[in-house]
Amino acid sequence: MSRLRIGVLGGGQLGRMMALAGTPLDLAFAFYESTPDCPAAGLGPVFGDAQNSSASLDTFIDSADVFTYEFENIPVAWVERIAARKPLYPGVKSLAVSQNRLHEKQLFARLNIPSARYAEIRSEADLREAATTLGLPLVVKTVTMGYDGKGQFLLKDTTQVSAAWAQLGAQAPLIAEEFIHFKRELSMIAVRGQDGSMACYPLTENVHHRGILSHSVAPAPFVDDDIQLAAERHIASIAQDLGHVGALTLEMFETRHGLMANETAPRVHNSGHWTIEGAHCSQFENHVRAVAGLPLGSTTCPQPTAMVNIIGEHPLKADILAERDAHLHFYGKTEREGRKLGHITLRASHHHELQARLQKIAALLPNPMALPVER
Ligand code: AMP
Repeated sequence: MSRLRIGVLGGGQLGRMMALAGTPLDLAFAFYESTPDCPAAGLGPVFGDAQNSSASLDTFIDSADVFTYEFENIPVAWVERIAARKPLYPGVKSLAVSQNRLHEKQLFARLNIPSARYAEIRSEADLREAATTLGLPLVVKTVTMGYDGKGQFLLKDTTQVSAAWAQLGAQAPLIAEEFIHFKRELSMIAVRGQDGSMACYPLTENVHHRGILSHSVAPAPFVDDDIQLAAERHIASIAQDLGHVGALTLEMFETRHGLMANETAPRVHNSGHWTIEGAHCSQFENHVRAVAGLPLGSTTCPQPTAMVNIIGEHPLKADILAERDAHLHFYGKTEREGRKLGHITLRASHHHELQARLQKIAALLPNPMALPVER
């Protein structure tokens, strides 16, 4: 029997880690990526050209049996072209909704999932009005193409309205959200199988530094069962509504009044990298299992686990590996400011010990990370 080949749109680190997880399951991979020396190179053929021509996309479609994607800023037309010819998981709807913050908000509202109050902004006057109706501060965001805090303006008082509009107006429509005074940021990653089965990982606490994920801790400490269950209900209702198959991420704020949804990603996620060593079956393996129509694996996390992102500059490999039980993942990328180059996973018997390990790792990184939160 020939091996099932999964075609991945994108050849970054997420595609690479999907292939690293799927290869032992006798799955083969192909990638569509304009740069041939991408992180996934070496784990399967890389299709695509600098122009991302439709001819190269068609050759890619010919090369695999079933398709997925590893990032969401891709033209919906590409995935529609794939879906017209071959199975694609997650489907076009999951991608289209996650690309548009307004559509996401409408989905949250329809499914009774709490999220920040917002207004759609098409003019400077709309923004001025939103400052009155929603109150200040406001987080003004582009509706499409935003990631890692890019395309955002924190509007603190009305004298900044013109500046905010000058910065983002060309990308209108925008969305203005009330500022949430959250206790912390949490995410949940779930995987839905082709048979509708769901597997949810424990809630993960995420700490950002300069708008980029710095580190994650799972299971997030001090999470009551009712919070975990609420997050599972929210993500299950989103996945069902979208007919989603594969990994799905829901980013949330934890507030005094409970969870508020911020955004979704129809894919494996940086805040789930800890699952490679920290869960019985990683987000990457579960995602490719779902895409291949295989049963899902256990999402149990036996020990407190942390993931630290390596940003901009590589640490010395030997320094990290000298730390007991530190797992190092380099993505094969060249150094550039703000670029995610790899990550480190740490496990410990207790959260307290994990925090101490995080502090030690922080001291070995050439670029500062957000300091672990002491509890
Ligand atoms: P996003 O691109 O929506 O994930 O936003 C990037 C970051 O901005 C989030 O991780 C939060 O730290 C912050 N942020 C986004 N929206 C809000 C909001 N409505 N209130 C407070 N902080 C926010």
